[in-house]
Amino acid sequence: MSMYSRDIVEAIKDRSDIVDLIGGYVSLKRAGSNYNGLCPFHSEKTPSFTVFPDNQSFFCFGCEAGGDAFTFIMRTENLDYKGAIEFLAKRGGVELPADSREERRGVSRKRVFEMNLIAARFWRECLFDPNIGRVGMEYLTEKRGLPLSIIRRFGIGYAPNDFNALTTVLTREGFTPEEIKEAFLGTISQKNGRVYDLFRDRVMFPVIDNTGNVIAFSGRDVGGHDNRKYVNSSDTPAFQKRRNLFALNFAKNHCAEQLILCEGNIDVVSLHAAGFENAVASLGTALTDEQARIMAKYTKQVVLAYDSDEAGQRAAHRAMGIFAKVGLDVRILQMQGAKDPDEYIKKFGAERFRQLIKNSRTGFEFKLQSVLAQYNLDIPDEKIKAAAELCAIIARVYSSAEREVYIHAVADRLGLREDSLRKDVESAMRRNAKAGKQQESQQARLSAMGIRDKVNPEAAGNIRAAAAEETILGLLLLYAEHRKAVRDGVVPLTRDSFVTAFHRNAFTVIMTLEESDGGFDFSLMGEYFTVEEMGRLARLEQTRRALSENGTTVLRAAIDTLAAAKERQNVKEAAPADRIQMILAGKRKNINRGSDDDP
Ligand SMILES: [Zn+2]
Repeated sequence: MSMYSRDIVEAIKDRSDIVDLIGGYVSLKRAGSNYNGLCPFHSEKTPSFTVFPDNQSFFCFGCEAGGDAFTFIMRTENLDYKGAIEFLAKRGGVELPADSREERRGVSRKRVFEMNLIAARFWRECLFDPNIGRVGMEYLTEKRGLPLSIIRRFGIGYAPNDFNALTTVLTREGFTPEEIKEAFLGTISQKNGRVYDLFRDRVMFPVIDNTGNVIAFSGRDVGGHDNRKYVNSSDTPAFQKRRNLFALNFAKNHCAEQLILCEGNIDVVSLHAAGFENAVASLGTALTDEQARIMAKYTKQVVLAYDSDEAGQRAAHRAMGIFAKVGLDVRILQMQGAKDPDEYIKKFGAERFRQLIKNSRTGFEFKLQSVLAQYNLDIPDEKIKAAAELCAIIARVYSSAEREVYIHAVADRLGLREDSLRKDVESAMRRNAKAGKQQESQQARLSAMGIRDKVNPEAAGNIRAAAAEETILGLLLLYAEHRKAVRDGVVPLTRDSFVTAFHRNAFTVIMTLEESDGGFDFSLMGEYFTVEEMGRLARLEQTRRALSENGTTVLRAAIDTLAAAKERQNVKEAAPADRIQMILAGKRKNINRGSDDDP
C-alpha cells in the first residue's frame, strides 16, 4: 500500500477548513469561538457535537466521535484514511501523484531554477522598456507609489500581453514545452500541442528563497484581461506554496524581534518601501502550519496585518490558533480607515503605521473584542452573557498572571468589579476540572464494572495506569513543549513506561512523528489508527484542553503515577513487537519524505 506523503496530507488539510467542511453536513451554530450542532454520528436532541476552528478539530461529547477533517470524512463517507485523503484532495482541488514513481519523473529543480531566472530577467527588461512595460510601470509607480529602488530590489517585472513572449525565449534557450509547463510558466494547447505563456499582462513578483534562487512567481493583473487578480505559481519541483513566504529572503535579516505577516505581496512591497523590512506574506494560500513553523525559526513575535474586512478577520482568528501551536507570540493590527496596510500607509504615513504596530492587540484583546461585538452591552442581560463567555475563555488560560491581566481588561471594558469576575473565572475553572475528572472517573467506573472499553480493552485491568496514560497522552497531543521534553529526555518517559498497548502505540506514533522532519501533526495519525481510536485520541486532547493546569508539574506527576502503578502491578515483561511498531518500521522513510528543502 503506498501512502501519500506528509506534504500532500498537509496541502489538503490547508484547503479543507473544518467549519466549511462539516458545515456542509451538519447545520452549525456559532458558540463563542467554536461551533455547535447535532451530532451526525448518534441520535440526539440537544447538540453535543462541537467544531473547534482554532485547531481544526471536532468532537462529540455524547458518542466520542472526534478528530480532524480526514476522520470526519472517513466516518461520514465511510472511507478508509487513503480514501478520505483522495476525497478531500478532489474537493480542495489538490492534485495527487498518480503513483510515486511518476512523482520522480519530469523536470529537475535545477532546470526550473534556470527557467525562473531567465523569466525573471526577461520580465524585468519588459517592465523597464517603455514600449512594452508602460502599463506595468504606471501601476507600480503611479497607482502604488513605489520608488524605482524598491521595484529593482524586489526584481519586479512585467509579463507582456502576448501568448508567446516568454515561451519563445525559453524555447530558444533549449527548454521543452513539457519543462515549461512543469515549471508553471506555460500551458500546452489542447488543440495544437503548442506551448504558450501562462502569465500575461501581469506585474510579476519573483519569489526568492534564502539562497537566492527564484523559486516561483506571483502575478498581479494590471490590464483587466483576467478576472483573477493574482495568479501564483502552483507547486513545482522547485517550489511548495505551503512551505514558503514571500519576501522572507529580505525580511530574515530584520526580524529577530518581530515579523509582520500581510495578505498580499503588494502590501509587503509597500511596507518595505516605507522602511518595514520585516514584512512577509503567505503566497495566495491561507497560513499553513509549515509557514508558521518556518516563521518561528526566525522570530519571536508575529504581527498580523490582515485586511480589515470580515474575511481578513476570520483568517486572523484561524492564524492565531496556528501560531499558538508553534509557540509564537501573536499581535493583531487593527486598521481603521483603510482596508489593508498598503492603503493605510498611503493615507496616514509610515509613522502612524509604526504607532499602529506598537498598539497592536494581543490575541486575547482580539478575542475580547470579537466577543463584545456580538452583544449589545447596554442591555444588562447581554452584558452578563458577554461576561460569562469571556470568563470561560479566561478559565482556559494557562498562567495565573495572564489570567489576572485579562480579568483586569474585562472588568475595565464591561465596567464590572474585578473580584466578582475573578470568582466567575475560578468557578468556571472548577467546573472544567470537575468535568474532566468526571469523564476520567466515568471511564474508570465503566472499566471497574467490567464494561469493555473497545478501544483500549486493557484499561479495565489497569485502571490507575490507564488514567495516568490518558493524562500524559492528552498533554503530548496538545503541547509541543511537552513533546520536546520527552524527546530531549527531560522527563523520564519511553515506550516501555506504558502499560496498555493502545496508549503505548499512540505514544510511539506521536513521538515518531515528532522526531520526523516536519514535526507532529494530528492528521498524520490517521494512517495508523481506526476512526474509533482517532475519536478516543481526540477525547484525550479535548479533556486536557478543558483543564487549565497543563504544565510540566502535571506531566511529571502523571509519569510518577504511571511508574508507581506499573511497579505495584508488576506488569508482565515487555510486550513483543506489535502492530504499530511493525508498521512504523517500514514507514519512517515515508513520514520523513519531502521535508528536505525548508528555506
Ligand atoms: Zn455523537
